[in-house]
Parts: sequence; structure tokens; C-alpha cells
Amino acid sequence: ALEFGKAWTYAPAPEAADHVRIDPRYELFIGGKWVAPSSGKYFDTVSPSTEQKLAEVAEGNERDVDLAVKAARVAYEKYWSKLSGIERGKYIYRIARVIQEKARELAIVETMDGGKPIKESRDVDLPLVAAHFFYYAGWADKLAYAFPGRSPRPLGVAGQVIPWNFPLLMAAWKLAPALAAGNTCVLKPAETTPLTALLLAKILEECDLPPGVVNIVTGAGPTGAALVAHPDVDKVAFTGSTDVGKRIQKALSGTKKKLTLELGGKAANIVFADAPLDQAVEGIISGIFFNQGHVCCAGSRLLVEEGAFEPLLRRLRDRMQTLRVGDPLDKNTDVGAINSKMQLDKIRELVDAGEREGATRFSTPCELPARGYWFAPTLFTGVSQSHRIAREEIFGPVLAVMTFRTPDEAVEKANNTMYGLSAGVWTDKGSKSFWVSQKLRAGVVWANTYNKFDPSSPFGGYKESGFGREGGRQGLLPYLEVD
Ligand code: NAD
Repeated sequence: ALEFGKAWTYAPAPEAADHVRIDPRYELFIGGKWVAPSSGKYFDTVSPSTEQKLAEVAEGNERDVDLAVKAARVAYEKYWSKLSGIERGKYIYRIARVIQEKARELAIVETMDGGKPIKESRDVDLPLVAAHFFYYAGWADKLAYAFPGRSPRPLGVAGQVIPWNFPLLMAAWKLAPALAAGNTCVLKPAETTPLTALLLAKILEECDLPPGVVNIVTGAGPTGAALVAHPDVDKVAFTGSTDVGKRIQKALSGTKKKLTLELGGKAANIVFADAPLDQAVEGIISGIFFNQGHVCCAGSRLLVEEGAFEPLLRRLRDRMQTLRVGDPLDKNTDVGAINSKMQLDKIRELVDAGEREGATRFSTPCELPARGYWFAPTLFTGVSQSHRIAREEIFGPVLAVMTFRTPDEAVEKANNTMYGLSAGVWTDKGSKSFWVSQKLRAGVVWANTYNKFDPSSPFGGYKESGFGREGGRQGLLPYLEVD
């Protein structure tokens, strides 16, 4: 049993056989030191699959944020902006390598703190985290080649706020390009999943990263708000909900700060009748049930050509019933825990709305654990475009299925959303997938696959999914002044 108050080890499932150490309490990481929060307040981080407290974590306030931004400024002026790209790159390579060495432990903690299946944190999140640092380490001494004929300069101090769905990966997406471009950082992890960012801080210490180059200030919304509002922050990078993104955009209007926003999504996964249906079913399943649907680019609206509706839905319901829901530390688990009680309530509210508005619900008849936050894989048919489940981001394992007759109708329905982050298209015809992807107002379009990521490939939204790109050469731009 988990006992709070002393360091403990956890080894209930095969994947956790290597003992993982989580400290009972974490302070703020500012200027290379572990600093108690000036308010003296701490908050609990719990495992969503057991509801047990894992650790208590410092709640940073305005004063702490100010200290962190000052530390980042000093580090920028004193060391980081004076280092050559080659030297910055060496630090970033070192960080990538130590992450690889500790990948097993980081994956287990990610799963414990956030609820995602261990096979995802181990096989997807952690490899991508390391790959992201490796990729941007490679750019650090090649900025002049990234923008030939122009002169790229770092901005200064970056204030970065991230969500809970891919905690360490989002930290990597923020830190790696910022550091490669020569900026220093203050990072604010999400309040339900702060642990891996704090373990990353220990890795940065181990890599001898100069103090203050990366500072980590934990806390909830007000901590993030203090960071983005700080007058000495030059650049704000935010990933999270569209609501908060809009608030940040307002707060920053008229300031000198550069801003990028990666916000919500309501992606269409479009399946034509000529698509290989078995392959499409796998893509649909990964599109909506990967990470319990806590994915901004989740394929949450399935658009099926009428002729394929019956056979596709039959296969899809069958396949959904093979998904194993339960202990995220079990390596056979496909669908883990919902990240928080708050998120579970939000999913339930939208699913209830779906039923009330007349759509037909199918949830897999799986047995859900008694403790923790869970939601059975669910799909709705008989969905109309005006239903809330077709318009609003559910951010859970819930798929809204609609049909179409022509490619034009598919595109029209897919684009009928305030979001524009991603989309999928499934067809046997290359010409059709090109035609459709060019008509879609979405930052990423996958053809005959879904949820594939690579650090060299830019990611970001259209419309209310935000602006700016992360990943690739494009992901350097938000962290540079390019003359
Ligand atoms: P959220 O917006 O509530 O929180 C995100 C982060 O912002 C957290 O760290 C939170 O503490 C902080 N925050 C909250 N209020 C703030 C404020 N006023 N000022 C500054 N920071 C504040 O979102 P969430 O529930 O944590 O994450 C889910 C959302 O994130 C979904 O809508 C999802 O689509 C989106 N998301 C987008 C991407 C992307 O790349 N586009 C990736 C992951 C998640």
C-alpha cells in the first residue's frame, strides 16, 4: 500500500518491477536550486487510477514566478546567450541521452501521475521526448542554415505553460527548441501531472545545465497566469484549452511579447468506401482511444461514406470490445484512467448531452475498477452536426459518428468546426487523399494512418486551434527574431 510521508517504492505490476522513487515533496526548481514556495503552500498530485496521493508539490505564486524569471534573465545574459550553438547543442544532446537512460523510470512515473497506459508512455511518449531533444540539439549550431541569408537571434526569456495529457512530451516540445535557439526558460507544468517535469529538472542538474537556464515553477492556473503576465518574459508558449488560450491572448495584447498557442481540436477522421476497412478501424481506434482520447488531435468525429457505414461500424464495435481498460501499469492495458475527476465530470456531462440530444450511445461492456477515474470506450451514432458531442471537444474516449455521400460533403462537414488542428483521410485513391487534404482546414492531415508524430514534422493549428508551429525547422521560428 502507498504510504505518504516517506519515500516509497512501487512494484505492483510487471512494468514497475524496477523500483521507482518518488519523493514525498517537491520544491520549485529556480536558478538551479530547489526552493520552497514563498507562500509555504503545497498541493497533492494523485494517481488517477488509484486516487492515492503520490507526492506534494510546491504551489508557486507571483513572487516565485518573479524569482524564476529573474534567474532565467541572469542565465540568459551571463551564460546561455554567450555560448556557441555547438556548446548549447552538447547540453541538449546530453539531456536527450540521460532521458533515454532513465526512460523506464520516467515512463512509469508518467503513467502513475497521469493515468495513461504504460505501453504508451514507454513506447510512444518517452521515445518521442528523447527524439525531440536529439532533433533540436542538431539545430543548435545550424540556425544560420535554417534561415539562410538572414540572421536569427534568440528572444531572451521564454515563459511556457503546458497541459496534462502528454506532460513530459509537452515539456520537451517547449524546452528543446527554445534552448536550441538560445533562449532560457521558465516552465509551468499542469497541476495534475507535475512529476515528470520535476524529474526532468533533476536530469538537468545531472547534465550540469547552467543554473537558471531552465526553471520549473509548479502550480495551477494562477501560477501560469502570473508567468505569462510577467513583464520580463519575452516569449509566451502555451498549450492547453482554447478558453485559456484566448484569455492569454487578451492579456498579452499590446505587449512586446511573442506568443504561440496550441489549443483544442475536434478532428474529423474521414473514411471513404474504397478504404481498406480493417486498416481504417485500427486508425479510428488509435485516433480516439489513444491516451483515453486526451489528445488535442484525437480523431473525435468519424465521417463515414454511407456505403461503408454498416460494415465499418460492425468491425469498429467488435474491435472496441477487445480493448482492455484498467490498471495503466499493466503492459496489456489499452485504455487507462481518465486524468482527473474534473475531466471525468466533463466527459460525463457531454455524453449525457449526447443522449439527451438524441444520439445513440454504445459503450463497451467492460468492468471498470472500483477506485480511480474511468470511462468505457464509447461511440455515438445518429449524431447530427448541431449536437454538442459533434461540436465540442470532449477530450475523452468518446467518438461521434456521422455519414456523408460525396467528397465535397465530407470536406464540408470536416471543416464545419471552430477548430482546425488535424484530420485523417482513408481511401484507396491517392488522388482523393491529396484532393481532400488540400481542402481541409487543418494543420496536420494523416492519410491512411493516424496519430503519427515525428520531431522533424511541424505541428499546429488553424482557426481556434491556435497559431504557430512546434516541431521541425518551423518550430524554431517562434523562439527567434529573424532579420
Ligand atoms: P487548461 O487550458 O485548463 O490548462 C493548461 C495549462 O494552463 C495548465 O498548466 C494550467 O494550469 C494552465 N492555466 C490555466 N489557467 C491559466 C491562465 N489563466 N493563465 C495561464 N495558464 C493557465 O487545459 P487542460 O485542461 O490542462 O488541457 C486540455 C486542453 O489542452 C484541451 O483543450 C486540449 O485540446 C489542449 N491541448 C492542446 C494541444 C495542442 O498541441 N494543440 C496539446 C495538448 C492539449
